[in-house]
Amino acid sequence: MKFKLLTQIFIAFILAIIFGLWVPGIEKVQPLGDLFLRLIKFVIVPLVFSTLVVGVASTGDVGKLSRMGGKTVIYYLVTTAIAITIGISAGFIFSPGEGLDIDPGETTVEPSESQGVIQTLLNIIPTNPIQSLVEGNILQIIFFALFIGIGITVIGKKGNTVYEFFDGFAEVMYKITGWVMKIAPLGVFGLIAPIVAQYGADLLMPLIKIILAVAVAVIFHAMIVYSTAVKMIGKMNPITFFKGILPATMVAFSTTSSSGTLPVTMKNTQENLKVSERVSSFVLPLGATINMDGTAIYLGISTLFSAQLFGIELTFAQLLMIILTGTLASIGTAGVPGAGLIMLTMVLQSAGLPLEAIAVVAGIDRILDMFRTAINVMGDASAAVVVASSENEMAQESENFTA
Ligand code: ASP
Repeated sequence: MKFKLLTQIFIAFILAIIFGLWVPGIEKVQPLGDLFLRLIKFVIVPLVFSTLVVGVASTGDVGKLSRMGGKTVIYYLVTTAIAITIGISAGFIFSPGEGLDIDPGETTVEPSESQGVIQTLLNIIPTNPIQSLVEGNILQIIFFALFIGIGITVIGKKGNTVYEFFDGFAEVMYKITGWVMKIAPLGVFGLIAPIVAQYGADLLMPLIKIILAVAVAVIFHAMIVYSTAVKMIGKMNPITFFKGILPATMVAFSTTSSSGTLPVTMKNTQENLKVSERVSSFVLPLGATINMDGTAIYLGISTLFSAQLFGIELTFAQLLMIILTGTLASIGTAGVPGAGLIMLTMVLQSAGLPLEAIAVVAGIDRILDMFRTAINVMGDASAAVVVASSENEMAQESENFTA
């Protein structure tokens, strides 16, 4: 039964490509995609909030929590730094911007404003936690849930009712997520077919090298970095890992939003990879907000693309700057469609490169976004396996999502 959904999603995916290429007017199925997208977004906030409160409260050990948090953040930083290095290397190897005769035109691109590290960190603390829930600000929601969970543990017996409430509420949210997933194949079809129809060969061919570079680099990253981490630290067969997380990867590919895919990622990591609720409810929402390996790879490649397009030789200092700002920019990228493109301005600017190349990349950004989001989600799941295994938090049987 478990992989039946995967097979369905897979068939939907293939059909979407076939229909997208050959059936005129297939764009009309877009509402199916939007329906699925709205439904998975609808479960995110209550699911993340309730499961994290329960996860933290059932750990009951602040020391263990901070250790888990530390491991997660280190894993995220290390894999992101590797990702951007792979991105830059792929940029050199594929040289997607060389010999290209594209006029970026007169487009002026506004540099994006960044808030500064201190303000960004301060913003994690909500001044009004209800507003964080309303706005779906995941980092602030994590902060709120962490404290409620710790509070429940610390006050002891009196916290039981609150715990029971969130525990029951989380169960309900798991159930709803299970229902929503039943229409995932329809959603994937509704999202992919119109895109295939929209992007003809004329648009893609001139930039095929950059698409290939991103595709090859993200696959390489998954094969090498995630396989090794999952095998060496997570003690899991990489094939089990890739197969288990495939539905979420395909949903990420179709929706180009790692935040939107979050309910599916949580479902897959708990059900197929047997990661405990405690770990997945913490590691995954955090990852969907700050861990973007695919985006880091894309930023590396696109920056080199831009330099090559204008025939600029990069200095060693510029490369270092790209690694540093690329890592920070990927952390700051929101898990929503197209966010990486906005961050590209920041990286180009810090390396002193012309911003005009953005206009060229923007034409095919949706395609690149599919690859990077798929890897972003896979990276979060690999962290869940690694942290869970090192903390003895691999469940024998999945406790939830028994739809
Ligand atoms: N769409 C990506 C995500 O949701 C972010 C990006 O644009 O790079 O993970």
